[in-house]
Amino acid sequence: MAVMAWFKKERKPRISQRTRLEIPKDAWERCENCGHVDIRERFEKALNVCSECGHHRRFSAEEYIELLTDPGSWRELWNNLRSADPLHFEHYSERLVSARKKGGQADGIYTGAAKLDGLPFNLGVMNFAFMGGSMGSVVGEKIARLARRSHEKKLPLVLISASGGARMQEGVLSLMQMAKTSAAIALLHRDAIPYISILTDPTTGGVSASYAMQGDVILAEPGALIGFAGQRVIKQTIGQDLPDGFQTAEFLLEHGQIDDVVPRASLRDTTARLLRHMQGQRPLAEHAELS
Ligand SMILES: [Zn+2]
Repeated sequence: MAVMAWFKKERKPRISQRTRLEIPKDAWERCENCGHVDIRERFEKALNVCSECGHHRRFSAEEYIELLTDPGSWRELWNNLRSADPLHFEHYSERLVSARKKGGQADGIYTGAAKLDGLPFNLGVMNFAFMGGSMGSVVGEKIARLARRSHEKKLPLVLISASGGARMQEGVLSLMQMAKTSAAIALLHRDAIPYISILTDPTTGGVSASYAMQGDVILAEPGALIGFAGQRVIKQTIGQDLPDGFQTAEFLLEHGQIDDVVPRASLRDTTARLLRHMQGQRPLAEHAELS
């Protein structure tokens, strides 16, 4: 027996050495900001934040849902809504078909009900993989329904934005979603039902000009681009140079447009704490001490 065990011990390190040598090339990833190279697994473990420079790389809608909900609590709503092509915009119907293949059936946003630290809430997460998270009729309708659901059930609303703005292919119908979502969110404000808006990179155009900026609390991820028009357009319009860091989360915080810049690693705790606080509940630590 002792000899067998000795042989087994010998074999193990050899196997691990072989697997280490066989890491496929596509398992490596490079930080777009500083060039730091690491295996994908390590990036994933750090929630896709670079360990060298802290750059927040793209995080998928599905990953945000996992990050901000209790395991098994997420229940998706209205994923059967489909964009029509009312303006018969060139190639739009074909683009929708390929967008569904690439970004799934949710269109530009996932909406659903979930729990965070045991507290029920409604969550919407924009799906950048679907036509850049652009806001068309489906996105607007889903947000309006989710906000109305929050209002009816008196449940807090959390929206995570990642969007280039209105969906060009739906023209004025896209722009109308700004008013529609704002009206639904106004109901929450009127009846003091908490709404937390979380801005990720990028949050621009009609999304930043409507529901993304209407949160009772507005949080943003570090370095996120947040603004309405592009910098070049603004520069040409006002004929002036723009300040350093213009349209970043940090710049907006400094100028009082948002409430805090929250690293991805703290997003779950911060959101949970805010949800409890805004509903007049005790912090979780206090619960633990009492029980
Ligand atoms: Zn980096």
